[in-house]
Amino acid sequence: MSIKEIVVVSGKGGTGKTSVTASLVPYFTNTVVADCDVDAPDLDILLDPKVLKRENISATKKALIDPEKCTGCGKCLEYCRFDALRMEAGKAILPQAPKCEGCQVCVYICPSEAITLVPSDTGELFESETAYGPMVHSRLIPGEEVSGRLVAITRKRAKDKAEELGCETVLIDGPPGVACNVISSITGADLALIVTEPTVSGFHDLKRVWDTTRKIRVKSAILINKSGLSNEFTGPIREFAKANDIPLLGEIPLDDELRRAVNRREIPSVVLPNFPENLFWKKLVEKILVI
Ligand code: SF4
Ligand code: SF4
Repeated sequence: MSIKEIVVVSGKGGTGKTSVTASLVPYFTNTVVADCDVDAPDLDILLDPKVLKRENISATKKALIDPEKCTGCGKCLEYCRFDALRMEAGKAILPQAPKCEGCQVCVYICPSEAITLVPSDTGELFESETAYGPMVHSRLIPGEEVSGRLVAITRKRAKDKAEELGCETVLIDGPPGVACNVISSITGADLALIVTEPTVSGFHDLKRVWDTTRKIRVKSAILINKSGLSNEFTGPIREFAKANDIPLLGEIPLDDELRRAVNRREIPSVVLPNFPENLFWKKLVEKILVI
């Protein structure tokens, strides 16, 4: 059985991507949820998962200097273009591990063979259970910059879990923006659901993220959040979707009650089942599954 991967993305933060993902979760059956927004994971705030398993993830390698072999020649400092190394008491040291990109230049340049690369913890991965089924989520260690790899690991673990449990879908909360971590979250997925808002930056970032999905040949669809925030942009977003043949799956009006639900850490579609209209979320999931 092939597992369908649906990734919720947005060209920028603050569009309500995570509250939309959380609202979709109760309407998906037989699914694994994954939070791949590893730099700032917050789906757990709304889904309140019970952590069953936690592990450290080494998605990168860092320089390790043997002080016994180091002669203090300084060559590694000279060649490290990430400025990760320092001299202390006549020996090279790596004071800030996140700055090391594991490029190996120092390993090759060191005349004393004092440097090796060793696996380094870059984040934590959790396997959890929510009221709506299994969840896989992870968190990057602050300062680390390998979020794309952690996204890929989280996504794979969620898919493995879906296979193990016989689930038909994996619903992924992707990172905001269009950087490599976003590409990592959508490459090879069945659908990128782009959540946008009708503002200048929302429309601009929608175009950028859609362009990314197009380049890597991932199907996309649009959901307008906070529609009515500005009629100046809601209309053009509709026209953009139509002109580019992108399914526009729905519009969620700007609403104070919805915002308050999120602030209370509640899933909007659960506490406001008739908002924006009766059966909206159920129909939305049906539309998603047939694309
Ligand atoms: S290049 Fe090697 S020997 Fe020279 S300072 Fe760096 S670690 Fe020490
Ligand atoms: S592996 Fe590369 S980034 Fe890390 S300390 Fe060595 S030269 Fe610098």
